[in-house]
Amino acid sequence: MRVVICEDARAVDEYAGRLMIELIRKQPQARIGFATGNTPLGLYAYLIQAYRNQVVRFKDIEAFNLDEYVGLARDHPQSFASFMQRELFSQIDIPASHIHALDGASPDPDRACQAYEKVLQKQPLDMQILGIGMDGHIGYNEPGSPLDGPCHVVELEEQSIESSLDYGFQSTADVPRQGMTMGVGTIMQAKCLLMMAKGEKKAPLVKRMLEGEVSENFPASVIQRHPNVIVVLDRFAASELKGEGK
Ligand code: PGA
Repeated sequence: MRVVICEDARAVDEYAGRLMIELIRKQPQARIGFATGNTPLGLYAYLIQAYRNQVVRFKDIEAFNLDEYVGLARDHPQSFASFMQRELFSQIDIPASHIHALDGASPDPDRACQAYEKVLQKQPLDMQILGIGMDGHIGYNEPGSPLDGPCHVVELEEQSIESSLDYGFQSTADVPRQGMTMGVGTIMQAKCLLMMAKGEKKAPLVKRMLEGEVSENFPASVIQRHPNVIVVLDRFAASELKGEGK
């Protein structure tokens, strides 16, 4: 595992952005898993700028969204499909046919998960971008999720519902109670995991993820078992790690 501690959030975005650009230049058809949330927003802005500056092109990559809310159609403003469209895909040259996502509006969400898993199983992802949720989730794998599971439907924890208010919902009553997500097993099959965390509120979570016991009770801890992980932190998120001190 490579843990990189950056001075600030902007440096995290730049470091992660350079890694992604390096991958895409080497492998223009890279299969990349994209996460939503506040954490990767700056990374996506960095990639858009790099595209505008003609440093990188995205026309041949295949993109796979990590998770979705059950019941929200792709064009719902709070769907994760919409988020990715707005924050990255609509601003770069990726063709619509290269964007893959869980179908939140499916009348049969379990089947939609199985169908997505099938697409993902065709070939491993070259890179999966990840953030960590306040309850230790990766994707929407809440505490208790099996560490080898496939794409599946989940009951969202209260904490995840609360955190969703950051993503534009007016009140928690508007947040769907279920999500669908790549499983921890699906995520672990990616050739490289790029985990980002920023800010002091993530510090205890980062410590538990990297230094705690690997456990279903804290799904992000599973990354300790992956052979190729890059964790990019700002110094605030890293502040509780051994040797970092406060
Ligand atoms: P955040 O969410 O980036 O908005 O903190 C992370 C997550 O829930 O995975």
